[in-house]
Amino acid sequence: MTPIRTCIGCGQKAPRDELLRLVRAPSGVVTLDPGKLAPGRGAWVHPRESCLRRAEAARAVGRAFRGKARPPPPGALLSEALLLLGKLEEE
Ligand SMILES: [Zn+2]
Repeated sequence: MTPIRTCIGCGQKAPRDELLRLVRAPSGVVTLDPGKLAPGRGAWVHPRESCLRRAEAARAVGRAFRGKARPPPPGALLSEALLLLGKLEEE
């Protein structure tokens, strides 16, 4: 069975396979974890524009990483997800 994770963008639960994983880069900034295997605390987000935009907000990042990570520059998660997947999910 696929583990269920919670999207930090919309707060809905979804199978791990349907979500992207976020981690704290060595620089302290939140970034995408394409292999979903990077060590350390992770967070999960739908590959959707609305969820990615909410996930990069300071409040969502603070909650997901307990204040130990910094939000990425605006739009960074969106472009990383687009590069990785080629396209995002329809809203
Ligand atoms: Zn979501």
